[in-house]
Amino acid sequence: MYCERQWGLIHIENAWSENVLTIEGTQVHERVDDPEIFESRGETFYSRSVPVVSNKLNIQGVIDIIEFQKNKNGVFISSKSDYYMPNIIEYKHGSPKMEDYDTVQLCAQAMAFEEMKNCILDFGFIFYNQTKRREKIFFTTELREKVVMLIKQMNEYYFKQVTPLPVNLKKCKNCSLNNLCAYNIKNMSAEDYIKKTLKEI
Ligand code: SF4
Repeated sequence: MYCERQWGLIHIENAWSENVLTIEGTQVHERVDDPEIFESRGETFYSRSVPVVSNKLNIQGVIDIIEFQKNKNGVFISSKSDYYMPNIIEYKHGSPKMEDYDTVQLCAQAMAFEEMKNCILDFGFIFYNQTKRREKIFFTTELREKVVMLIKQMNEYYFKQVTPLPVNLKKCKNCSLNNLCAYNIKNMSAEDYIKKTLKEI
């Protein structure tokens, strides 16, 4: 959602580079993602860093935290021999955004979880570190369709091993991959790009 070229550089070309924003994000996840931390309060318990996979969508990922609340309408948890309602929670270091980058990610995680547990989740939560608030996100039909469409596009690029071209250069300033991306390639012929790069070198 942020930038399809950034996704291609990371997942097709195995490129990575840190900047202050990615380091801040990693710091927020350090405690959240520790699977050794076990918390339980009354009839609620928490699982951290839960791996999920969807064979239908052809994706895998990790849910930061799942809060399980005892509820006879929930899913059966064999280690507890009882039913619990899962609330999936994603942690973000910033604040809520106008764009739906975060909600699409959460919904994709929810859809993979649903497939694994044969259940339907109506909503999940995103906790923003900057506002220290949990935002409730409903998994609407529209949001689910967007997830399916984006994953279809990703799979097409992945199987062709084609890294998408840059489309929105406004985002490049804050992107940790801008030193690897050649984001100004879009408006340049290959010959001009090579000349410019050689001149810079
Ligand atoms: S520098 Fe710009 S085009 Fe390149 S990956 Fe980052 S956001 Fe995308």
